[in-house]
Amino acid sequence: MERVYLDNNATTLVDPLVKEAMDPFFTKMYGNPNSLHSFGTEVHPYMKLALDRLYDGINADDEDDIIITSCASEGNNTVIKSLYFDSVINGKKPQMITSLIEHPAVSEVYMFLEKLGVEVKWLPVNKEGIIDPDELRKAIDPDKTALVSLIWANNETGLINPVKEYGEICRENGVKLHLDGVQAIGKIPVNMQEIQADYLTFSAHKFHGPKGIGGLYIRKGVSVVPLIHGGEQMAGLRAGTINTAYMIGMGYALALAVKNLDYEATEVRRLRDKLEDAILSIDDVEVIGSRDKRTPNTILASFRGIEGEAFLWDLNQKGIAASTGSACSSESLESNPTFKAMEIGADLAHTGMRFSLSRYTTEEEIDYAVDAIKSAVERLRGISSTSNKEYI
Ligand code: PLP
Repeated sequence: MERVYLDNNATTLVDPLVKEAMDPFFTKMYGNPNSLHSFGTEVHPYMKLALDRLYDGINADDEDDIIITSCASEGNNTVIKSLYFDSVINGKKPQMITSLIEHPAVSEVYMFLEKLGVEVKWLPVNKEGIIDPDELRKAIDPDKTALVSLIWANNETGLINPVKEYGEICRENGVKLHLDGVQAIGKIPVNMQEIQADYLTFSAHKFHGPKGIGGLYIRKGVSVVPLIHGGEQMAGLRAGTINTAYMIGMGYALALAVKNLDYEATEVRRLRDKLEDAILSIDDVEVIGSRDKRTPNTILASFRGIEGEAFLWDLNQKGIAASTGSACSSESLESNPTFKAMEIGADLAHTGMRFSLSRYTTEEEIDYAVDAIKSAVERLRGISSTSNKEYI
């Protein structure tokens, strides 16, 4: 076995069927969909089909809106900054709410807005790694809160937050709710008729679609101030010529992901649990969050006494791709925000290693990974004990 990819929360391979479906739109049907000639108009039915698939994939109402973005980071920026722009236009001083376990595509936007004078409340997580709805209830001020942004399924732990309750609380208080659905879509059912969120962001490359394309769901009756001005595309809400091939790929990828949800819940979960059982059989290892409360593909394990960079390197030498956190933070090899929020490892030498599977992960790959992880841990702990570097 040469390589095993267990970093599917960072990105996924493009389903070959999706690639095939996108192909004609690069060299044959390449017209600008806004052009009035046949090169443009021939693309329309495929874009309509892609959009229909996106609506179906999240069970959106026909009157809701979905705008196509370049990625989920753009979607998140659009929603959060839009509400800020809105408050500036209306001369109000906004207060906004988010949590300590958001992806940087949300948390860093809020940090930026804090510098512009926005009051941001950062919700903690409970002992289980979940954002407690009571904390949200306490933090909301119906007269001041302009927006609540919370993560549906956490990218590091896979823990699924009680978004239905967040929706009810926000609705009761007349406050808008924005969910980052990036790690939920394609892994668990997402039904926007059941969840009272006003905005939902997603990204195709997390569900076997191409990188560089995402979506922003906007509930009927709600809108956004555009982040990108300069054209009438997306009903004037997001300027720029649409990437038709990728949009078509994203629609198809979502349809396939939804079709595979049962497989995710059974087979992907079975393989995840097999890997998790093996990891837990190693001494001084803990997995964050109970299995039933996580997306079926994710494990965030805390390995005591192992240095993250060395562990990642060792695994990589054996052909295993995992992650010490989100792909963004792992570039700087920072500690996991969830560990910080849950105060894990404050006094101990812990490394959080994330293993994330997909519907392409095989049993043989898991068997190989188990051996590789065990031998890496053994080797690294051996080094730390022979060099007398104690871990407690
Ligand atoms: N939100 C979450 C929860 C993510 O996991 C990611 C990517 O890792 C993003 C947002 C950003 O997505 P994109 O790469 O499409 O900008």
